[in-house]
Amino acid sequence: MSAPYDVLVVGGRVAGASTAMLLARAGARVALLERSAYGSDTVSTHGLMRAGVMQLSRWGLLDRLTGTPPILRTTFHYRDREPEQVAIRALYAPRRQLLDRVLVDAAAEAGAEIRHGVAVTSLLRDESGRVAGVRMRDGSELTAGITIGADGIRSTVASATGAPVVRRSRSRSAVLYRYYAGVQAAGYEWAYAPGGAAGLLPTTDGATCVFVATTPTRMRSLRRDGAEQAFATLLADMAPSLTDLLIPATPVDRMHGWAGAAGFFRQAWGPGWALVGDAGYYKDPITTHGMTDALRDAELLSDALTGPGPESAALAKYQATRDELSSALFEVTESVASYTWTLDEVRVLLRKVSSAMKAEVTQFSL
Ligand SMILES: Cc1cc2nc3c(=O)[nH]c(=O)nc-3n(C[C@H](O)[C@H](O)[C@H](O)COP(=O)(O)OP(=O)(O)OC[C@H]3O[C@@H](n4cnc5c(N)ncnc54)[C@H](O)[C@@H]3O)c2cc1C
Repeated sequence: MSAPYDVLVVGGRVAGASTAMLLARAGARVALLERSAYGSDTVSTHGLMRAGVMQLSRWGLLDRLTGTPPILRTTFHYRDREPEQVAIRALYAPRRQLLDRVLVDAAAEAGAEIRHGVAVTSLLRDESGRVAGVRMRDGSELTAGITIGADGIRSTVASATGAPVVRRSRSRSAVLYRYYAGVQAAGYEWAYAPGGAAGLLPTTDGATCVFVATTPTRMRSLRRDGAEQAFATLLADMAPSLTDLLIPATPVDRMHGWAGAAGFFRQAWGPGWALVGDAGYYKDPITTHGMTDALRDAELLSDALTGPGPESAALAKYQATRDELSSALFEVTESVASYTWTLDEVRVLLRKVSSAMKAEVTQFSL
């Protein structure tokens, strides 16, 4: 066995890297274990919301999102109605190769040991049954006081601990997205039409991420004619006012797809383990909020583990706070991702999304 750590973090993206950074900044001996390569990409449409931007700013990392323009305006398109524009305080939609790398670098600077290309396959337990570390694909083992699963929706840590799903959603979005150069979008552009949604998000290095979303059933049917055709059909149907913005633009890479997954809350902790980010709480991407939630929960978990009092009480409070702050957005996301609304109804749902986000901004302003 290698030297023990205070904390092992499995998964090194938004949730894991920020949790490792915060714990290392607080003086813990942390190892971060990530199976993919340093600076690699992952599935995302990149929209960070206000609470996440505030955290990156407070952590001194916002300036490191180089080449990522501030978003100062959101425009909502509802078919042939007049578009509705809202001025906003700066938001950002960084490419994941950049954001995840910035967080990993900050964790390393804080003293965390970073290992990429390392897959955790199972957990170690002490004689009391408490999780005591991890076993990796090459058979090597690491021990620690606590093991954190930040390893995404198909979390190995969640499976190995048997963390029960305590709440599950029914609806889900299937998504297609790709990057374009030369789009004249000045802000986030969201478009809605019965049965689907689309959006444009200006991201890093002059690229704009363009996505379409609908039910998995409709997406499967449209994809029989190929992903390109499905993307074009959905975009023309849902966002006729946006397709003009794409006329002078050129795609800069392949199409990316997401088949859809049901949202869930998992039990977030047990003896010697905790879950953070999508591993513990996942909701449909249509409200573009998973990264903001992951950053929030990284801070809540780090505060729980470094604060006073018994670990079990602190982790129980972590889960209760996560659930309380997430419930309203989880519910409204479920309704948006059902795609059963009329345009008037989705406008009301989007106002609910906005007020749920105001509540989380208030939490971090306290
Ligand atoms: C189509 C789509 C679009 C999205 N768009 C947005 C958006 O616009 N805005 C937004 O905020 N959110 C968006 N999200 C959600 C967002 O991507 C996630 O919420 C976010 O990535 C969660 O971060 P995480 O660190 O918890 O997990 P992940 O980003 O999934 O990272 C988990 C990491 O764990 C690693 N890992 C897994 N198992 C192991 C193992 N056994 N050993 C070692 N490492 C392991 C994986 O390699 C991975 O790097 C979108 C999601 C999808 C599917």
